[in-house]
This record gives sequence, structure tokens and C-alpha cells, in this order.
Amino acid sequence: MIHLSFIFNIIIPNQMKPLFALIICLLMSICFIATNGNAELDLFYGEKKIIVLDPGHGGHDKGARGADGTFEKTITLNLAKMIADELGSKYRTSLTRTDDYLLSIPDRTAVANHMGADLFVSIHVGGSFLHKASGITVYYFKEMSDTDITFNGATSETYSPDNDPTTWDDIQKRHITRSRALAKLTQTHINDMIKHMETGIEGVPLVVLSGADMPAILIEIGYISNPGEEKKLCDTQILSEFAKAISKAIDIFLSEKNQ
Ligand SMILES: [Zn+2]
Repeated sequence: MIHLSFIFNIIIPNQMKPLFALIICLLMSICFIATNGNAELDLFYGEKKIIVLDPGHGGHDKGARGADGTFEKTITLNLAKMIADELGSKYRTSLTRTDDYLLSIPDRTAVANHMGADLFVSIHVGGSFLHKASGITVYYFKEMSDTDITFNGATSETYSPDNDPTTWDDIQKRHITRSRALAKLTQTHINDMIKHMETGIEGVPLVVLSGADMPAILIEIGYISNPGEEKKLCDTQILSEFAKAISKAIDIFLSEKNQ
């Protein structure tokens, strides 16, 4: 095997050595990028902030179901795609799922953490046995206190006895202030832009938010169990209004003055 330094010192003429060294450096850089996906992505996306949108449910987990047979999993995916379109190329936006398949709750949060996301937004639709239940709620993570035996306003979607609070990790705690600010901003923009539905805000110890290492919220966009709201959620024009309001809030939150 011929040693590289032998080639460099003997075979390459002196005047060609700087050019040869430059070519070697370029080849090594290309090899490094080819074997390192993140470096390649960093070069491609530059300084763009990363947003991870999480369409709730999927696959055999259909989520809540409306009287007309609409499934929550369909609405959440449609809305997430619309928000991503609204955000456009200004940000690097990813969806935890892009089609009709199931993803575990820890896997959803892990996508955002692995990507080093600047923002995590989980999207759900409410479901209730009370057909009159209505409105939009923006949730941020809040630790459960001794008095929080039940959660006011939270549906079966956001809390169930199976979600053992003792197993939740604490990563989100360090982001609670900014998550609450994002929730408030989102509430304000939806209320400003959507006049036909009320939007509330609530702090709840949600599993999908607890492990997110960045500002994170969960938006429950109306009640699919309410026949009137099911119709709205199936209306592309109205869903597009929601997407515009949510993306506007995200855009303002991620603007420099808020960072
Ligand atoms: Zn849901």
C-alpha cells in the first residue's frame, strides 16, 4: 500500500501541492456530509427555526368520531398540513405523521426533541358525550397539584386514568413560562380571526407535552361530537381560517423580539 504522504511529497509537483491539498479537503468535506445526515440538513436549512406539528391519532386509533362519521385523526392531519403550508418556507416545518398511521405518544415528542425543534404543536379535536360541548381550547403543560383530581374543561382526549402522572417526565417544566405565552398568543389570534367559536386556554399535565424540550402546546380545535362544529371542521375554508390564525401566532412567537 502506497503511503499518502509519499504521493504528496514525491509524485505531486511543488506548485500543485496547494491545489491538491484543497481538493483533498473538499473530498473529505463531501464524505463527512454524506455520512452525517444532520450536517447535511444544517447546510440545507441554515438558520431556519424548526417547528414540529403533531396531528393527533392515526391508523386504528381514530380519535373522537362525529355524528356524520368524521374521524378526529382525519381533521388533525388536514389541519396540520394546512398550518405547514401557511408557515411556508420561512421555517423548517415537520409533521410527526404525514399519513394515516399510528405513532405512540412518546414517539411524537421524541421527533421534536430529536430534531431540536424550536416549537412543538400537537393538534387534536375534542369529543364529548355532551353534544352541546363546543369551542376551542389551547393547552399548555402544568404540573398536577393535589387538588387537580379532575381537569375542568379537559375532555377524555386530554386526560384518562391510564395516563399515570407518576410516569411523566419533567422536561417541559423548564419551558412552562414560554409555553403559556405561546398558548395565550394562539388563543388571542384565534379569537381575533375566528368569530364563530370561543377559544379558551388551560394548563393541564398532558403526557404528550410533558417530555417536550421546547415551548409546546396542544390545540383542541372544537368538538367533533358537536354536529355544528363537525360541519365546520369538515369545511376546508373554515379549517383554512384556523390554520391561518395558528400559523400567525406561531410566526409572531418565533419572531426575534419574542426570542
Ligand atoms: Zn385527540
